[in-house]
Formats: sequence, C-alpha cells, structure tokens
Amino acid sequence: MIIAVDGPAGSGKGTVTKRIEKEIGFFNLDTGATYRCVALETLRKGITLDDTEKIIEIANNIDIKIEKTENKEIILLNNEDVSKEIRTKEVTAIVSQISSIILVREKMVEVQRKLAKGKNVIVEGRDIGTVVFPNADIKIYLDASEEVRAKRRYEENIENGIDTTYEEVLENVRMRDYNDMHKKVGALKKAEDAIVIDSTDLKIEEVVEKIKDTISQNR
Ligand code: C5P
Repeated sequence: MIIAVDGPAGSGKGTVTKRIEKEIGFFNLDTGATYRCVALETLRKGITLDDTEKIIEIANNIDIKIEKTENKEIILLNNEDVSKEIRTKEVTAIVSQISSIILVREKMVEVQRKLAKGKNVIVEGRDIGTVVFPNADIKIYLDASEEVRAKRRYEENIENGIDTTYEEVLENVRMRDYNDMHKKVGALKKAEDAIVIDSTDLKIEEVVEKIKDTISQNR
C-alpha cells in the first residue's frame, strides 16, 4: 500500500508521517532528504549552483540509504550518517534550487521508487501524488498558513540547536514555496484526487487521526 503525503514546508508532513510510521508500521519515506543529500554534496564539493552539469553528476553517482532503528532514522550518504548535516541552514537555503534541476529530479524519483519498493509506505514530499506515485492508494495534501508553518520550522530549529530567527525562517519558507510551486517539473501541487487537510488550527494528533481514519476506510 502506498500513501502519498504532499504539502509545503512546515505543513506537518514529517511529524505526522513519522507518527503514522510508529503507529501502524508503514515505512516513512522522506523524499526531501534525497534532495538534501544532493545539496549537501554540492556544498561539500564547493560546486556553485550554476554548474548544473556537476550537480547532475553528483545526483547520478551518490548512494542514498535510509536505516530505521527503534527510535531514530538514519540517512546515509555514501555510507556516512548525514542525518544532521542535511538539515543545516546552508543546505536548506539551496535545496529548492537543486531540486529544480530536471535531471536531478529524474534521478531522485528513481531513487525514491527504489527505496519504497516492496514495502507498505507513507511517502512525503511535494510531487508524490502527482509524479512519484500517481497511482498511490491514498493521497493527502497537507497545508497550513505561512505564518504557522514558519513558526513550526522555527521551533524545530531551536529544538535541534540550529541558530535562526523567525523572520529568517519565514523568508526561507516563502522563497521555497514560490520555487517549489513554480518548478517546470515536479512542482508542488495538489493531485486532483488528493484529500486536503488544513493543519493551521489542528493538533498533530488530530491530523494523525484523520489520516489513520482514511487509511482504515481504504484498507
Ligand atoms: O521536505 P523538505 O523541506 O525536507 O524538502 C526540501 C526541499 O526538497 C523542498 O523545499 C523541495 O524543494 C524539495 N523537494 C522536492 N520534491 C519532493 C521533496 C522535496 O522538490 N518530493
């Protein structure tokens, strides 16, 4: 079974899908992490954003794996644990541009499908219900107001020791929303058959319950 969850940054996708993974045992695939790995490797190699050929080469040659332990998820980039490094401000600042490169997307979609193969999955991203798994059994589009999404990301950053201001996060959320919605390929948009959940005024538990109800109705 495939559950696709799409939505903008800070809409709650990650938190909610991780809870569902714990509660019903579906494998949670965070597709943003794959683009973040390409962004991290680009920064590490000192490649500039206009050098798309080199970035595509990185996408074609890196190995991305996801390991799950009892209470932790580990993202492995060429067998190195980069779970923390892919969430830094520097990576977040360029990941949307990296993911706009069409050949990078093609490769990452292939990687994502491989990572999900043969499993019951809850996959979160921007184009899951439209491009990666257009035949997903359930499609959810999670949204929330810009301010609430920025506030959530800001609080998450503070919790993870990432030093930012709310204004900085809000600006990044706005920039990424614009970029993500205007991509030529794989733009963030609601699939026609997606169920929309606006989480602006909902608690995490309420969103989780809504999605779990939808799953049990469709199983
Ligand atoms: O979900 P997260 O914020 O980690 O995603 C990082 C970036 O990766 C997004 O801003 C978006 O540009 C890109 N992305 C994408 N398609 C996906 C998942 C993420 O373009 N399916």
